Parts: sequence; C-alpha cells; structure tokens
Amino acid sequence: MSHQHNTNPSRRALLKQGAALAAGVGGMMIAGPSAAATPSPSPKFDEIFDIIVVGSGFAGMSAAVQAAEEGAKVLVIDKMPVFGGNSTINGGAMAVAGSGLQAKSGIEDSVELMVSDMLKSGRGMNDAEMLKLVCDGTAESARWLESYGTVWKPFVQHFGGHSVPRVLQTRESSGAGIIRPLIAAAKKAGVTMYKQSKLIAFVQDEQHRVIGVKVKSGYFFPKERTGNDKLLGARQGVIMATGGFGRDIPFRQMQQPRLTSELDSTNHPGANADALKQMMLIGANPIHLDQIQLGPWSSPDEKGFGTASQFNTAATYQNGIVVDVRTGERFFNELADRKARAEAIMTRRDQQGQPVYPVGFTNEKGAAKAQTLEWGLKYDVIKKADTLDELAGLYGIPAEKLKAQVAQWNQYVRDGEDKQFGRPLMKAFELTEGPWYAVRMWPKVHYCMGGVRVNTHSQVLHLISDKPIPGLFAAGEATGGIHGASRLGACAVAEGVVTGRNAARSAVKADAVSLKLA
Ligand SMILES: Cc1cc2nc3c(=O)[nH]c(=O)nc-3n(C[C@H](O)[C@H](O)[C@H](O)COP(=O)(O)OP(=O)(O)OC[C@H]3O[C@@H](n4cnc5c(N)ncnc54)[C@H](O)[C@@H]3O)c2cc1C
Repeated sequence: MSHQHNTNPSRRALLKQGAALAAGVGGMMIAGPSAAATPSPSPKFDEIFDIIVVGSGFAGMSAAVQAAEEGAKVLVIDKMPVFGGNSTINGGAMAVAGSGLQAKSGIEDSVELMVSDMLKSGRGMNDAEMLKLVCDGTAESARWLESYGTVWKPFVQHFGGHSVPRVLQTRESSGAGIIRPLIAAAKKAGVTMYKQSKLIAFVQDEQHRVIGVKVKSGYFFPKERTGNDKLLGARQGVIMATGGFGRDIPFRQMQQPRLTSELDSTNHPGANADALKQMMLIGANPIHLDQIQLGPWSSPDEKGFGTASQFNTAATYQNGIVVDVRTGERFFNELADRKARAEAIMTRRDQQGQPVYPVGFTNEKGAAKAQTLEWGLKYDVIKKADTLDELAGLYGIPAEKLKAQVAQWNQYVRDGEDKQFGRPLMKAFELTEGPWYAVRMWPKVHYCMGGVRVNTHSQVLHLISDKPIPGLFAAGEATGGIHGASRLGACAVAEGVVTGRNAARSAVKADAVSLKLA
C-alpha cells in the first residue's frame, strides 16, 4: 500500500496531526485525516525519474546540475510561471571564505573565521555541523559556478557582521547571474524542467520511503483550483529546494505575531509555507520557524527589495551613516549584523508606536558602487541634496545637530575608532562634501532561518525518531538551523549552492527503487 497526502491542510488538520505525532505513534509516518482518504495501492506514475528536485532557485538548480553531472535522470519542477524563486531576484552576493579575489586583494580569511562570524550572528543557535559544511564548500562552489558562466565583479565587498571583506557579487548584481547559467547547464545536461507544476503531496511506499510526488500540472499561482493531477516517480529521491515562507502572512504570524501585514516583504509572491507543510505532514521536523529575518536596508517608500536595498548595502551602510530624524544622531553600528540593525531601526517610533523612519545617507564617493542610484532617484526613493542643510530640510532633521554628527563621525574616522558604536572602520572615509544621497529606512521580512531539520547528508529528519525520512532530501532556505537566530548577508547564496549540491551527491548514492509507469 502507498499513501498520498493532500495539499493545503487546514490549521486544525495540522494541529491534529501534531497531536498524533506528539502522542508518539511508533515514530512512523502518521496518516492524517486527509492522507487516510487517498490510499493508492501500487501507484502507477505518469513519468519516472531518478531524482525529482522541487524548486528552481540556487538550491534546486545546483542540486539538479550536480545530480546530472553524476549521471542521474533529473526532473526540476516549480509551481511558479517563471523559474528561479527568490534566487533570481536576489542581489547576487555570495560570501566565500578563501576566494581568489580575496587573495589578490591581500585579505586573509578562513573557513573557521567565516564559521565564527556566522555563529556570532546566529547567537550560537546554529547547527554547527551544517554551518561548517556550508563554509567549507564556498570557495569550491564559487569556482563551480564560474565554470558554468557566472561572472563576479572584480572586487570583494565587506558586508555587515563579516569580520573581513569576503563577499563576491555577480556582474549583474542579481542572482539571475547564477540562475541563468545553471538553467542553461541543466538543459544542456538533459535535465527536464517543468514550471507551473506544484507539489501537492508526497507519494510513499509501505516502508514510508518517498518514491514520488503528486503535482498540479498547469497550475496558475495563486489559483488553487487550476492544473491537473499528475504522479511523478523518483527512483532515488526527492530533493526539496522550496525556499522560505516570507510572503505567507498567516504562517509567519503563527511563528511571530508581530510580523503582520503591515510589514512588507522582499520575497517573490510564491514564498509561502505550502511545501513546508507537506514535509511536516510526513513527519519532517520543523526547527527555528520563529527565526525570521528582517532586512535592515529596505525603504518604506517603495515595494519589496526595490532600489533602496542595494543602495543601502553598497553605499549607506558601508560608506555613510544612519540618523534618527528627530535628533540628527546616529543610533547604531551601521556594520552590525542584520538582526541588530533591524531591531535598532524598529525602536524608532513615536509615542503612539508609529514608525519614525530613520534616514541613511552618504556622498557621491560613497554612492559610487550603488547600481540602483539612478533608479532610486528617478522614483524619488533616493533623494539628492547639495548641502547638509538642504538634506536636513528634506527630512525635517535639526540641521545643526546633523552637521555636528557628521563632524563627529569624521573625527572617529581620523582617530580610527568609532567611539559611539564600535563600527569597524577598515574601509571608512570622512564625509566632507556633497552632493549627498539619502533614503528613508524601515525593515521588511526577508529570510526564514527556520525550516526542516536535515543531517549532513541533506536527509530530512523525522520529528519523532530523528532518523532520515527515506527518499527525502532538502536544501537551501527550506532547511533550518544553519544560520541560527540571524543570517549574515550573502550567506544564503552560499548555503543554497553548497547544500543543493550536497543533497544531490547524497541522493545519487541512494538505492534505486523499482517503479511502474501508468
Ligand atoms: C530580494 C532578495 C535579495 C536577496 N539578496 C541576497 C544576496 O544578495 N545574497 C544572499 O546570500 N541572499 C540573498 N537573498 C536571500 C536568498 O536569495 C534566498 O535565501 C535564496 O534565493 C533561497 O534559495 P532557495 O533555492 O532555497 O529558494 P528559492 O530561490 O526561493 O526557490 C524556491 C522555489 O521553490 C518553488 N516552490 C515552493 N513551493 C513549491 C511547491 N509546492 N511546488 C513546486 N515548487 C515550489 C518556488 O516557486 C521557488 O521558485 C535575497 C533574497 C531576496 C528576496
């Protein structure tokens, strides 16, 4: 007998399922009410592959290309009408310990240093083994991406929370500079790719091994009634590379009630918890789900990631300062990790609790590497002022206080020590002359540190037994634990590529089950 589980369980069904699991029914897969309704003796599949990868972002495409390199017959499915998920709209920044570019710039780095930076940012909650696996794989994976056509900018960047400059960024400042070459490589290697194919259930055999997926083919997000059911078989395994749930407001609020619809998200519209719920229904252990990252560089003056996020990352935070508009004063270390920065910004509220948006700014020299400057100015998200008086006027900042803060900052740079907030000053320079470029700031929901628990073979672990669910692997943002309480910038590309390839290497070693075509 085999079991299929229906998609979109109600919260009640999930809770019932959880209660059954908590009751500890033998550590076996529990058939929930919906699952019990659809037993299927000896399933016949519409198509059969060695490995099915669900999701076509960094994790999914890396898994697919790696598995194809190792000779597997691979299918990639994605529910959306375009491939790439969050990965294709991402900023293309990848943290790499020990890159050739670091060596060229005389920057000393090591896997151990990257691990220790990420542990610090993760407040020690990280899965140390998985973290080491990711950091260890970054330099080789960056070269692997290059071999498929990714081109990095010719300099290394210093992102907040990293103790040395170690961030490579695609020429395009976009994850598309990684996804496009990987899709081309996958197609060349014979990988089959279906978009608008949504996983709605797993198919398991009587040993509870995952042997395939039930999908809605021709699905049109978000219309749940669209598409036709298909059964797709996976002889060696299913790799879940289904990303996070940043856009799933009800689900994220179950984890953190303060993350209401008032907070925008940088994520693509399909970043919801539907695939995570399916994994939970067959016993996957969800960990750290309440650890949801807010991006500290976004602006309330535009939707999503927009133009401000890149501007603030490349310009304001590295080369400028951020002030409270009421006082003209800095109030945090602009190069602290994301969690510290986002929390600091969210403390800026009036007596009614309404946000008082802080302003970040730098000058022409500081903005030189901000590729979105022109667009930000065009859409009036970024504002330009010739003098500090004019800048103060634009945002209602007390001008004398603003000028005093800039003078104090310049003194810190000359002294080589930020006495206010201990910001590292390795790359800092004095802010002496305009024109000035400024932006209002407020965090947005950006990344889910939580997801399913996996071991170092990228096998998904069962909630009760803590043993692998046979045939089920996961990679990328869909997994939990690597980043602990807070992910450092540029570490999700690293995670996606390294763990996607790791999952593929494990899946191709699995014994193949024999499956039947319809
Ligand atoms: C705007 C933005 C900028 C970012 N910039 C950076 C950066 O510069 N550096 C960095 O390290 N990180 C960055 N991040 C974070 C990083 O991009 C993501 O963590 C990463 O892309 C996740 O990759 P993934 O492969 O795990 O998931 P995704 O890329 O999100 O892919 C998951 C895919 O799974 C599909 N899927 C989900 N459920 C189903 C289902 N049931 N059936 C079929 N398909 C399904 C989705 O449609 C999606 O295409 C950024 C994120 C955003 C949103």
